[in-house]
Amino acid sequence: MLDRLKTLYQLQVIDDQLDELEELRGDLPNTVKELTQKINNIKADLQEKQDKQQSSLEKRKENEEEIEKIRENQKKFKAQLFQVRNNKEYDALTKEIDHSDGNIQKLEEENAQLENLAGTLTVDIDELGPILFELEEELESKEADLKEIIKLNAKEEAVLTTSRKQFEGKIKGPDYSSYMKIRKAKKGIAVATIKRSACSGCHNIVPSQRQLEIRRNNKLFYCEHCGRILVSPEAAEINQ
Ligand SMILES: [Zn+2]
Repeated sequence: MLDRLKTLYQLQVIDDQLDELEELRGDLPNTVKELTQKINNIKADLQEKQDKQQSSLEKRKENEEEIEKIRENQKKFKAQLFQVRNNKEYDALTKEIDHSDGNIQKLEEENAQLENLAGTLTVDIDELGPILFELEEELESKEADLKEIIKLNAKEEAVLTTSRKQFEGKIKGPDYSSYMKIRKAKKGIAVATIKRSACSGCHNIVPSQRQLEIRRNNKLFYCEHCGRILVSPEAAEINQ
């Protein structure tokens, strides 16, 4: 049982050291994540706007070709006007010409709108370019900073990670999951010991009767105030 308690305490010590290493990274991992997200959003936005611009251009070209075709037909109708034999034919041709005038107007209006849209899109795209560039530079520098910090501590971290795995392997499943649960809920500290008659996790006094029980090292105790696993000073001795 003492071994079980010692192992739990040692896992805590290793995790404390790993947490310290992570704290050295400060806000950098988060900043990198946020910047990456921002950049991806802007890129997607930019792509969407460029696609819209492209399709606007294609549609305008299509419309211009259509207008050209209608004008060719109108020329034919107008030529035919001189060859009509009666009013009925004349009326039919005039109607056709008026109708195609209407179509041309519609297409021209649509093209004007599309050109407007393309103009707005160009402004947006021109604005996004420098913003994207700036964010990418910032990300690059933050990533370099983070890499540097990780590199500086890589050896220490590797050693700690290896021994953490060893200790984790020695701990029983239920103990480990309870350890992890408390660790998550209690700012990383799941195992506390008794220091000057108090729980080292929450600094509340541990009743002397309870202290005696804990010192027997034959059971898993939890602090009645903070819920952390409470081990005796003996179990918290690391030099073994
Ligand atoms: Zn406590």
